[in-house]
Amino acid sequence: MKRFNTRKTLRHHLQQVRKDRLRVAFVPTMGALHQGHITLIHHARTLADVVVCSIFVNPTQFNDPEDLKKYPRPIDTDIRLLQEAGCHVLFQPEVSEMYGPDEHWHMDLGRLDEILEASHRPGHFQGVTQVVKKLFDIVQPDIACFGQKDFQQFKVVERLVAQFQLPVKLAMVPTVREPDGLAMSSRNVRLSATGRQQALALYRALLWIKTDMTAKAPSTLREEAIRFLESSPGVQVEYVALCDAQTLETIDEFTETRSSVALVAAWVDGVRLIDNMLLN
Ligand code: AMP
Repeated sequence: MKRFNTRKTLRHHLQQVRKDRLRVAFVPTMGALHQGHITLIHHARTLADVVVCSIFVNPTQFNDPEDLKKYPRPIDTDIRLLQEAGCHVLFQPEVSEMYGPDEHWHMDLGRLDEILEASHRPGHFQGVTQVVKKLFDIVQPDIACFGQKDFQQFKVVERLVAQFQLPVKLAMVPTVREPDGLAMSSRNVRLSATGRQQALALYRALLWIKTDMTAKAPSTLREEAIRFLESSPGVQVEYVALCDAQTLETIDEFTETRSSVALVAAWVDGVRLIDNMLLN
């Protein structure tokens, strides 16, 4: 695996790759890699000749400075995992390589920047669009892989690509879970043994919704899921939402023609967790 820290050296390498007419797939990450990330790398390998992964803990997408400070950064393990997964190129820039000293540009994300994650993490998706736009400009991938785990983020990136008419395809890879159902996340390592068990409530709430969806209205399911989570020890709910999987607007009924998604965010053990499940 080749490793680059600067835009210039990475661009130079990728110019040669493109001259050789090889297809490039890109997997942006913040490191602290787990099987979810590695599945993205494996998927990327099926889509292209060269897989580029970036590890960059992007400060502009953290609205909580403590969360940024506590973000795990086990870089040696990450490098080993990427090598084992057959990743070809790792891009690992410093913050100063990615941002100028006084950079504040924004993009109009419409409702996506108001609802769900955006309403609880103001500025988060502006940070995501900034870094993804910059990374796409540097890597210029043919295809980029993102996880379903961050469902709203995928929608935001779709919008970014549409708005700038970027010549990149997007692939959404299903959420990888622990054997007991907990969605894998870099933040899970911050859970205590008790918190780890309590965190399962998110997955159970989503399963509950999916199991009961033929019998009940979305608003009823949402209320029941919130009640279930509120009664789960150690869990503080931020939101449960049942939405149109295309627009992410709240739905008040299920229809055959429209796919829907249930999304949840909650605090467990001082860690903010999100999860979602496609319903049909
Ligand atoms: P992150 O390092 O958290 O920024 O995530 C990098 C990429 O990995 C994003 O596209 C995430 O959606 C994806 N990802 C994170 N966790 C999972 C998971 N459990 N399953 C699938 N993809 C994931």
